[in-house]
Amino acid sequence: MTNPAAGRIMPVSEFSLIRDFFSHCGAERADVLLGVGDDAALLRVPSGQMLVATLDTLVSGVHFLPNVDPEALGHKAMAVNLSDLAAMGAEPAWASLALTLPVADPDWLRAFSRGLCGLASRFGVQLVGGDTTRGPLSVSLQLQGFVPPEAALRRSGAHLGDGVYVTATLGDAGLALRGLLRGEAPEPGLRGRLERPEPRVAVGLGLRGVASAAIDISDGLAADLGHLLGASGVGAEVALRDLPLSPPVAAYLEQTGDWDLVLGSGDDYELCFTVPTERVAAVEALSLSLGVAMTRIGQVVAGAALRCIAPEGNLWQPKAAGYDHFAPERGADARG
Ligand code: ADP
Ligand code: MG
Repeated sequence: MTNPAAGRIMPVSEFSLIRDFFSHCGAERADVLLGVGDDAALLRVPSGQMLVATLDTLVSGVHFLPNVDPEALGHKAMAVNLSDLAAMGAEPAWASLALTLPVADPDWLRAFSRGLCGLASRFGVQLVGGDTTRGPLSVSLQLQGFVPPEAALRRSGAHLGDGVYVTATLGDAGLALRGLLRGEAPEPGLRGRLERPEPRVAVGLGLRGVASAAIDISDGLAADLGHLLGASGVGAEVALRDLPLSPPVAAYLEQTGDWDLVLGSGDDYELCFTVPTERVAAVEALSLSLGVAMTRIGQVVAGAALRCIAPEGNLWQPKAAGYDHFAPERGADARG
């Protein structure tokens, strides 16, 4: 780990920093007429498509531990935004980065840009601009992409009888963070799920015309599915025994019965979506073709409540609501 606040650093200037680490970052896109280097970028939106825009900020001590690996931080800043575009069914295109640093440490910046730009390249994203300032470490990334107007996946389209699905497994990042906060080293697979989430962009694109509603799970399934249900004006019944769990999370649950970790700890960056019965076969085909598990965990019902039925048949009651930065009991803890 390189701590940008540590001594013995030969800082670089703002302008050489931008040139060296961010002027050629990610894909080289033909629709970027002018990228990093002028007062603003000039970008061509393809005809017939809507521009989809999202932004996420990661603050030291709130979203990540201050000694975070800079490469993982760069990866995560890009991944959480890609996850939002995935949840809209959008194709990612352009990023802008607002970076606040206590000191311009070239080693730290090299690792950070490797994480950020590496993931950008994989998903065809070009960094087209940004802003660099001195201050407490924080990373804001804006991401833009495209979707045909009728194809956008919204939170508001779920209907009675639709199946409720999630991708991959839940609770892995939560279990990794729990370990880190207790001073234990989580096993590498779990740690990867916390620090290097894999955004489900291909799933989001494949769900165009298939899912009736979608959201990405950043604050825990209970809170985020709750947002989808609220936007759609419906309720849902979810069977906890059907939640997809990795072996370490299943073992942890076996020992503790702590469903809150799975439903409320956040940082999963999986997609949660609803599907009308007649399109269920398309979900199965998509899951097979992409090699990403998509598990039916319940169904949309009348009302406004999310009812989670525990394996013993009782109703699960959350110990805490989903993460809320302004909830009265919150101080600065480290989480996403
Ligand atoms: P201005 O003062 O005109 O806003 P800046 O000096 O802040 O310009 O930025 C110069 C150029 O570098 C701009 O094109 C801007 O978008 C880009 N830029 C600045 N910081 C970053 C960054 N962290 N990542 C990518 N591009 C950046
Ligand atoms: Mg200017």
